[in-house]
Amino acid sequence: MYDLSGRVALVTGGSRGIGAAIAVRLAGEGADVALTYREGRDSAEKVVREIEGLGRRSLALQADSADPAAVRTAVDRTAAELGRLDVLVNNAGVFPYGPFEEVGLEELDRTVAIHVRAAFVAAQAASPHLGEGGRIISIGSNLAERVPHDGIALYSMTKSALTGLTRALARELGPRGITVNVVHPGSTDTDMNPADGPSADDQRSLTALGRFQTADDVAATVAHLAGPGGRTITGAALLVDSGANA
Ligand code: NDP
Repeated sequence: MYDLSGRVALVTGGSRGIGAAIAVRLAGEGADVALTYREGRDSAEKVVREIEGLGRRSLALQADSADPAAVRTAVDRTAAELGRLDVLVNNAGVFPYGPFEEVGLEELDRTVAIHVRAAFVAAQAASPHLGEGGRIISIGSNLAERVPHDGIALYSMTKSALTGLTRALARELGPRGITVNVVHPGSTDTDMNPADGPSADDQRSLTALGRFQTADDVAATVAHLAGPGGRTITGAALLVDSGANA
């Protein structure tokens, strides 16, 4: 157990998959948790009910991460409606796939906006609310550090930007006792990347452990970073990828 009682977290893209698992896990450790979603209101409300079933307060906020004003509002509403903000988890993400020559400017800009600009803007908005012990945790990808096949230039580029942002913010926020880290998951069974999808066996064969991991596996590392055990881990990029990049 990592004691998060009395703490408030915001998880972007918390309606499904890894974000939902993180939101529920942080609540299980005692935090009140707000989550954003883009269009999955029903799934978001289901996660809210699950968190409330754990005896914690929760909030589902519609906020497209491509819209910086919506991201700022979600951060501020979390602090206003749940009373404070201690943990920001930048998780919302998409998976653009295809030859880099065919990536249009619109898709390029939108992916940069969701993966990179939203994380930057959310951290800016969260900063005035965070106190000693505050946490910023971004969800990157092991494909930020190793690229085992083609078609993922846009995804890898935008996810690796989180590593630079994380290191820089660790320096800027460290003096206030705030830690900043990025967790790089590998193949994780979600709607984005089902364990029975067409490329799942290829992905599995890249891992040292020979398996697809679960969203709960990623949430466990996020909970550790968010809790007291994470107090001296900052500026780190942690692979949670079943050894795919080993
Ligand atoms: P899913 O597609 O299963 O879930 C994505 C979540 O993000 C949903 O809650 C979705 O909300 C939300 N979301 C997507 N776009 C936006 C947006 N523009 N604004 C707000 N919310 C948005 O993905 P995963 O759970 O698999 O992925 C979560 C994160 O983990 C992503 O950043 C992904 O890149 C990363 N990751 C995933 C891996 C995997 O193998 N699954 C591996 C490595 C990294 P809604 O329900 O409204 O659509």
